[in-house]
Amino acid sequence: MTQSPLMNNYSRLSVAFERGEGAWLYDQQGNKFLDALSGIAVCGLGHAHPKVTAAISEQASRLIHTSNLYTIPLQTELAQRLCDLSGMDNVFFGNSGAEANEAAIKLARLYGHQRDIDNPAVIVMEHSFHGRTMATLSATGNRKAQAGFEPLVSGFVRAPFNDVEAIRTIAANNSNVVAILVEPIQGESGVRIPDQDYLNQLRQICDQQDWLLMLDEVQTGNGRTGRYFAYQHNDILPDVVTTAKGLGNGVPIGACLARGVAAEILGPGTHGSTFGGNPLACAAALAVVDTIESDSLCQKAADMGALLVEGFQREFEGAGYVRDIRGKGLMVAIELDQEVTELAVLAKVKGILLNVTGEGKIVRLLPPLILNESEASLIIGVISKLIKILVSDE
Ligand SMILES: *Cc1c(COP(=O)(O)O)cnc(C)c1O
Repeated sequence: MTQSPLMNNYSRLSVAFERGEGAWLYDQQGNKFLDALSGIAVCGLGHAHPKVTAAISEQASRLIHTSNLYTIPLQTELAQRLCDLSGMDNVFFGNSGAEANEAAIKLARLYGHQRDIDNPAVIVMEHSFHGRTMATLSATGNRKAQAGFEPLVSGFVRAPFNDVEAIRTIAANNSNVVAILVEPIQGESGVRIPDQDYLNQLRQICDQQDWLLMLDEVQTGNGRTGRYFAYQHNDILPDVVTTAKGLGNGVPIGACLARGVAAEILGPGTHGSTFGGNPLACAAALAVVDTIESDSLCQKAADMGALLVEGFQREFEGAGYVRDIRGKGLMVAIELDQEVTELAVLAKVKGILLNVTGEGKIVRLLPPLILNESEASLIIGVISKLIKILVSDE
């Protein structure tokens, strides 16, 4: 094996992209690929979006970084936009999803201590994903991701996802709980969509128990599911929302939004980030938020997502090996009864980028919100055909 100067923590496909435009990526040989993954739900506006490019270029030529020792007007402006969109009261900015969740976990702990709970605990779910830092890895419900990194951070209580009774049982037995941290739709473990009233029920329990309802919208936020935030499909407000991936369209930025008591917890010196909310990232995110609104990208994501799900349902009607076809907006999954890990490579050869997750049995699609109908048809046609070939080979 040739020695790489990179640590060996990723298994990568052998393709390198040189440029992108809209839903398409071009490799160094000039081959084009329809990006049905958007850099893992990051480039929601597609690649090289002119408004984002202009915002970044203009800001880069003016001012990139000053630190949070000073006022950053673009940060205040972005925070206000996000509060208006979400119903939250204020925002802390970091640079990634994990950092946004770290902030939420720290908020929950401070909230607990302020209420004289010495060992505050946060309820987290099986099959969840919250990041790779020690606290967010400990919150994550995936033993494989945690293996070898013990001792994990304590203070998490695990419950099955989409199981309200399990949460009630914890409430009756554990007086250290101060918050629930949950994804409205579990992304990394395979687009797991809970019952329609799940979040409403969690909201009710949190109200009864004085717990914070903290939603990890790192993946589901920023229009991905057909609303700006996924909880907006329900008639509730959380206490804390975290987001990141799609917020900067590729420029690293993460945000932890809070409301009510949760918005009053952090004081000067309690938390921080050198890069968090820098002018460059905020300029990019403001362009993203503007464009999602001006181009009705939430509605487009809802429409295109429905088209994808219907298309796959038509293609796989009566196919016994397909366990489920599901989606909300442009978070779409085809769950099979067998492993199809090679699909990512085969689809790449056919010019489509996607991801296979859930022990290799769940095909996950996260195309950009700007996807058009002919691109959606192409995805349906190529992927259906490949799955049929792969499955008949078994
Ligand atoms: C990707 C993801 C994270 C981690 O985000 P990073 O930016 O990789 O740290 C956290 N939560 C959810 C739901 C995610 O999908």
